[in-house]
Amino acid sequence: MANPRYAEATRPVPQAVEIGTLSDGTRIMKRAPRIRSCGLKDEKGKLCAGHLKRWYFYGGEVLERFGPNAEIYRCEKCRAIYLPNEEEEPRTGTLCW
Ligand SMILES: [Zn+2]
Repeated sequence: MANPRYAEATRPVPQAVEIGTLSDGTRIMKRAPRIRSCGLKDEKGKLCAGHLKRWYFYGGEVLERFGPNAEIYRCEKCRAIYLPNEEEEPRTGTLCW
């Protein structure tokens, strides 16, 4: 049986990138590849770690910005919005800019 304390201890954890905010202050993040929990920290530095859930029933500003067919995720705890990462596959260099 794998020792859970050993797992993931040494690898660097990919981080989500903040790409903007809505006018009401909701943070818009781009997910790091393969990440399924929220990596935001609150004012005290505590990790949110809420689940990112597919969000189908968005409206208003989110709908205006990303359109009706966007793949949108939302943290169930802090309500930050997450967009999927388009670099889920290994980097080849073709996306360098
Ligand atoms: Zn969160």
